[in-house]
Amino acid sequence: MQRNWVGSGLLALMLLLGALQDSVAAAAGAPRGLGAEDPVRTGADQQAAVRVNEAIHVVYGFGNTFLVTTPGGNVIIDTSMAARAVRAREMLDAVSREPVRYVILTHGHGDHTGGLATWMETGTQVVAQAEFAEFLHYQARLAGFFGRRNAAQFGLPVPPERGWAGNFGARVPATILFDEGYDFELGGTRFELLHTPGETPDHLTVWIPQYKAAFIGDNYYESFPNLYTLRGTRPRWALDYVESLDRILALGPELVLPSHGEPIVGNAAIVAALTRYRDAILYVHDAVVDGMNAGKDVFTLMREIRLPAELDVGEGYGNLIWSIRGIYEGYAGWFDGNPATMYAEPPAGVYADVVGLAGGPDAITRLAAEQLDAGAPVRALHLADMALAADPEHRGALEVRIAALEALRAASVNSNERGWLDHGLQEARARLTATPQPAP
Ligand SMILES: [Zn+2]
Repeated sequence: MQRNWVGSGLLALMLLLGALQDSVAAAAGAPRGLGAEDPVRTGADQQAAVRVNEAIHVVYGFGNTFLVTTPGGNVIIDTSMAARAVRAREMLDAVSREPVRYVILTHGHGDHTGGLATWMETGTQVVAQAEFAEFLHYQARLAGFFGRRNAAQFGLPVPPERGWAGNFGARVPATILFDEGYDFELGGTRFELLHTPGETPDHLTVWIPQYKAAFIGDNYYESFPNLYTLRGTRPRWALDYVESLDRILALGPELVLPSHGEPIVGNAAIVAALTRYRDAILYVHDAVVDGMNAGKDVFTLMREIRLPAELDVGEGYGNLIWSIRGIYEGYAGWFDGNPATMYAEPPAGVYADVVGLAGGPDAITRLAAEQLDAGAPVRALHLADMALAADPEHRGALEVRIAALEALRAASVNSNERGWLDHGLQEARARLTATPQPAP
């Protein structure tokens, strides 16, 4: 986006932004993206809040916590997980101990809302988008399910059973909920909040015109987005992301602050990053829609669709194959058109019979090991599943399963994939330990 700065002003601004970019990068140290080896520990070794500009500071985490200072008091944007919030507050208190007038939650995921209590003071307003309430109810409705699935994906402890809260049983801590937009002024600083659905239906963006700064939550991070997350989610609509990213680009930001990873500084860098991100999402969406209309099945599209090199935004957190399936099934649901799929008997229901016919679990395990040796660990996993359906305590099949999971783990560049492979390994190793040793 072109702007009408005169030459000297533009030069000064470029120098300022260059210095800012350097200071943010230097302070940042090790990569803090969601694709890091252990994204939950992002920023765990941070010692002090990082200064972004004269009014904005960040503590990195899973996710980030931002402090915006104004002469009329402080605004906090996102609060990380509960376990990280106290430390984040200590580091941000070292910057300013003025009253916390507002906490703005970019969306209702626990890595943004979990630390809220740490920031609450008398009179603190908590602002969220109106869909936040239903989103919290949805998470509370399925708390048992999500508790186990999040624990598996992120290597966290399974939370204790608290009993079902009911369909609308979440406590909704927001004091201000808005539909399309909400503006307020604090100490002369204007905050404009926009509804920008993407990763969640309640996503919002905080725009501070004075700093040309956009806090965009999880609608941008350094990876293809998690259009479907393996822990389970309602559809995350690709076209919502596209529209929301367009709205953010139209603001002409000079600073974009994602809730995971590092700020993007300078309009040119922002336009390049967000445009590429938007175009990558749209490319995959349109390719899935095209394939669906052409009568292709979801697995064919998962194998066929690839991003062109100029749109390759990385797959350290979200990835293409889950997103392709997420878009396809988001639109069409689970039925694949095969009448056998209409019924409650899954394909695995006939595994044991087929294994018997093929000579028993030893024979299938040999085939699984051959597939693993031939570089096809996923086929080896399917075959091990078949052998284990016939004999759940088959040591050879468990060993092939473990070896296949280890091979996939070693090759993985995606933190969510690694989370589920680690979970599978833990389960398989526990089963192997519990399985009686063969007689000598
Ligand atoms: Zn997040």
